[in-house]
Amino acid sequence: MSKQKVAVITGSGQGIGKGLAERLANDGFAIVLSDINEATLSETVKEFEEKGVNVTSMVGNVAKLEDQVALVQKAVDTFGSVDVFINNAGIEGQIAPLTETDPKAVDRVFDINVKGVIYGIQAAANQMKKQGTGGKIINACSIAGQEGFALLGPYSATKFAVKGLTQVAAKELARDKITVNSYCPGIVGTAMWERLDEGMMKYLGTKKGEALAKYAEGIALGRTQTPEDVANLVSFLASSQSDYITGQNILSDGGMVFN
Ligand code: NAD
Repeated sequence: MSKQKVAVITGSGQGIGKGLAERLANDGFAIVLSDINEATLSETVKEFEEKGVNVTSMVGNVAKLEDQVALVQKAVDTFGSVDVFINNAGIEGQIAPLTETDPKAVDRVFDINVKGVIYGIQAAANQMKKQGTGGKIINACSIAGQEGFALLGPYSATKFAVKGLTQVAAKELARDKITVNSYCPGIVGTAMWERLDEGMMKYLGTKKGEALAKYAEGIALGRTQTPEDVANLVSFLASSQSDYITGQNILSDGGMVFN
């Protein structure tokens, strides 16, 4: 029997990351969960254990290289390898026009969404190179990495950066048979969108739920996205079916942004 493959997912205590971990567990991967939020992480670990998933976890901050290296080490110590590494953790940052953007908020969103992805790629790729068996690095991009969104200036900039980093890493790591791609979701009903909806109220003059509804009107397929919708794409990117695809930032948005 061949060894069980191992997937590490950052920001997997809740939301999209948790959905991706559930799907990859069903696909047969051993799962390494990680999050900065200890409470949601331990709840999710418990759920996974109860379902009989081969799971381990580590609390960590993706913006710290040492945490990312420790996370990879934990995966190797527990399960023997890292085959798939998903840089999923991300924040929306401040919701405001550029004219009102606070420098501290700019630093924070770049620390997590950009530096976090660089350090995740670094930690994962160094381990995958050592293993010599290739691997798959998958990054969280966004529709906001394809088109800038008003009131989300720094966030949009970070997701454009993820798009660039995905291309760079794909070129640098191809010789080691490591593919690097990103998923670009649209409007997924997670805690992030609850915060976005609330933050936009001040600027759009909307009531609770109205900003989300306004954005949802622009979805061709007529409904918002679930973490499972995102997982359908990521499951493919984590599988051998995507072996000839690298450096791509793939939209899964129900038809919002058309390339
Ligand atoms: P979420 O807020 O529900 O979950 C994000 C998770 O990341 C949380 O568990 C949080 O604790 C964790 N996290 C935050 N900062 C961290 C850090 N420094 N280190 C480690 N973990 C950290 O958000 P989500 O909607 O599940 O978003 C997941 C990813 O998908 C993000 O990168 C986001 O930008 C991207 N995305 C989301 C949407 C959407 O509509 N929700 C759309 C496009 C892209």
